[in-house]
Amino acid sequence: MGSTSSAYRVIYLDVDGRIQKVVFSRFCSPYDIKELFCTALGIPRNTTLSLLDSTGLNNLKGMKVVEIEKCHSDIKKLREEMASRNNSHSLDDNKKLTPRRDVPSYPKYHLSQETVEALRQPTFDVWQWEPNEMLSCLEHMYNDLNLVKGFNMNPTTLKRWLLCIHDNYKVNPFHNFRHCFCVTQMMYSMICLCSLQEIFTQVDILILMTAAVCHDLQHPGYNNTYQINARTELAVRYNDISPLENHHCAVAFQIFSQPDCNILSTFDAEAFKQIRQGIITLILATDMARHGEILDSFKHKVDSFDFSDEEHVTCLKMVLIKCCDISNEVRPMEVAEPWVDCLLEEYFMQSDREKAESLPVAPFMDRQKVTKPTAQIGFIKFVLIPMFETVMKLFPQIEEVMIQPLRESRDRYEELKQIDDAMNEKKKSENLTMGKNK
Ligand SMILES: [Zn+2]
Repeated sequence: MGSTSSAYRVIYLDVDGRIQKVVFSRFCSPYDIKELFCTALGIPRNTTLSLLDSTGLNNLKGMKVVEIEKCHSDIKKLREEMASRNNSHSLDDNKKLTPRRDVPSYPKYHLSQETVEALRQPTFDVWQWEPNEMLSCLEHMYNDLNLVKGFNMNPTTLKRWLLCIHDNYKVNPFHNFRHCFCVTQMMYSMICLCSLQEIFTQVDILILMTAAVCHDLQHPGYNNTYQINARTELAVRYNDISPLENHHCAVAFQIFSQPDCNILSTFDAEAFKQIRQGIITLILATDMARHGEILDSFKHKVDSFDFSDEEHVTCLKMVLIKCCDISNEVRPMEVAEPWVDCLLEEYFMQSDREKAESLPVAPFMDRQKVTKPTAQIGFIKFVLIPMFETVMKLFPQIEEVMIQPLRESRDRYEELKQIDDAMNEKKKSENLTMGKNK
């Protein structure tokens, strides 16, 4: 990184092999800069951006100069345009809950037969779709599962609800609308793969899908530990008990409380109560602090599982949403790996803030201590595989499609770790030799 004058700073970016020079005001916040890079360069969030040192200068003749100040105003204009189109003039969370009176106008993408088929598989490439296309896919899932006709849902209300859901996911590196889409698409895949419609009631299917869609609404990008340690408004409101999950759930039902977005309006009071309880139970089950408790309870039931026992079924649904929530490593390597970068980016954002605020920092979030392989190996071996293997006792068909990819991913990250370790050893011995020569 270098600087041209006191008012501006310059960063050179290697974007997929092309060197880009970026000039920005030294008064830009890191958040602005990060957001502008992605927008100004037209690159997806998962692109690897690497900083070159000032020696990169010699190779930069004729490179595109991106004047961030100008982009800033362009983007502001674009945002305002979008906001006025969305009938909402502020990005304020409460405003986003305002229902849209107009019929939503996101273009209806025609999903090809190929897409419709692919959507049922955990191999679906979740990165190649724009938000509008993801909304169309979600709409398709609700129709395909016969939730719209079966429950007499107003198709326009479904569209409005989905748009409102989209608007209530923040632009975090990880906990964003695409993550919501991934979790829901994995739920849809599992419903298809395990023929869950033959086992569960349609109300259960509605609860599973809707809880998946809503499960991280308004996630702020900082986890429960941060909320509690920093004594945030959410932690105070929910007395340190799953503050985030309680919030996601409360936002979900604030959205349902608006008639224009209420896809549950056709249910009578008793049925609504049951669906509400079901969704709350599932969203609260996604707090990883409860992982051991929930998996243990499921392990106790699984060998004599009774599909007519409500407690058993509820426990299975809790495990299913947990599986989907952390299922990225089930996906093909090319789809799964960018998510690790996104998660680490969010973790590092948190640990940097914790350091700045003198709060405790978890080692798995510390950029000095964690690498991609170390982050993934333990998680795959001790969290993912044991949980999916327990579910496999009820649904043996998931072994090939979901557990095999997990085992392959574990092996791959273990190989990568060996390479990392060997490199570190080499560096260490080189440093030792240099020390001796001094
Ligand atoms: Zn999640």
